Amino acid sequence: MRVRNKPWAPELIEAHPEKIVEKGQAFKGQWNQRFEKEQPIFIEVGTGKGQFIINMAKKYPQYNFIGIEIQKTVIAIALKNALEEEIPNLQFLYADGAELTDYFEDGEVSKVFLNFSDPWPKTRHEKRRLTFKTFLKVYEQILVKNGEVEFKTDNQGLFEYSLYSLNNYGMTFEGVWLDLHNSEENEDNIETEYEHKFSAKGQPIYKLKAHF
Ligand code: SAM
Repeated sequence: MRVRNKPWAPELIEAHPEKIVEKGQAFKGQWNQRFEKEQPIFIEVGTGKGQFIINMAKKYPQYNFIGIEIQKTVIAIALKNALEEEIPNLQFLYADGAELTDYFEDGEVSKVFLNFSDPWPKTRHEKRRLTFKTFLKVYEQILVKNGEVEFKTDNQGLFEYSLYSLNNYGMTFEGVWLDLHNSEENEDNIETEYEHKFSAKGQPIYKLKAHF
């Protein structure tokens, strides 16, 4: 998803340093200080416009959530959406998921969510997929021991690739769903923007849960 630059985006980000971080290094090992309560931290890499992370934070006040996004305009839209309500257990980080070891201490994160990540179908772009082995190494480092990754997508090719990539990395699968919306796992499901769009077109949604 490429979004056209919006002139208000940098201004909105600058106006809300209490909610969004642009220089993540400053909080390495100290993310819990940015929240009202010290509690487990869950992150979403590639948070898009924020629908998932905002609703997760509202549903699970016992966890702290950080939405991470590489596109400034996109994270500004997520921030704008989040500011409509007071959500004390939600923060945003403008960053590249490939660099998360610069922004989080080893074991600082309790769970990683990846939702509808860009598929990068060409083989020469494999390294950009958020389930490529170098990304898995980053998640493993910042996650607690045996930390969990949850991944949802509508893209069969990316899902098959991710099963292969996580398995090759030595991760253990806790669950694999080939039609999430018609499964028991859907009971607690929080939809993302992309999920809503694709499932409305009748496409099945794939999901996996795995831990290191
Ligand atoms: N998760 C949202 C959803 O399900 O509706 C957005 C999905 S969108 C297809 C993928 C998002 O991941 C885009 O906003 C993109 O900018 C972001 N993204 C891609 N590569 C990233 C990276 N290396 N680090 C952080 N965000 C990334």
